[in-house]
Amino acid sequence: MTNPISKRMDKITFIRKQKEEVSDLQHVQSLFDHLISEDIGLDSEKAFWVIHHLQESIPVFPDRFEICNNCEQLFDSYEQGYYSEKRGIHLCYMCDDGED
Ligand SMILES: [Zn+2]
Repeated sequence: MTNPISKRMDKITFIRKQKEEVSDLQHVQSLFDHLISEDIGLDSEKAFWVIHHLQESIPVFPDRFEICNNCEQLFDSYEQGYYSEKRGIHLCYMCDDGED
């Protein structure tokens, strides 16, 4: 007979494992895509405001994701892209023009 608690723990482990297979960036991207979809209809600035809030005010997501102010692509700032102090904008690696 299977112990119900052990069965439950297996399920929790399985869910956790599934969660780990989707990166935080993918979760953030999926939320962003949903927010800018026709269903909700936010513009990218407002959609990113929601994500920013979920990173800074209620730490649902780690505070490392930014939106490129040039192409509006989300990126993991720990992995790529940078903040241009001179222009006051975030740029992903694709838009990095090496200007500063
Ligand atoms: Zn970009």
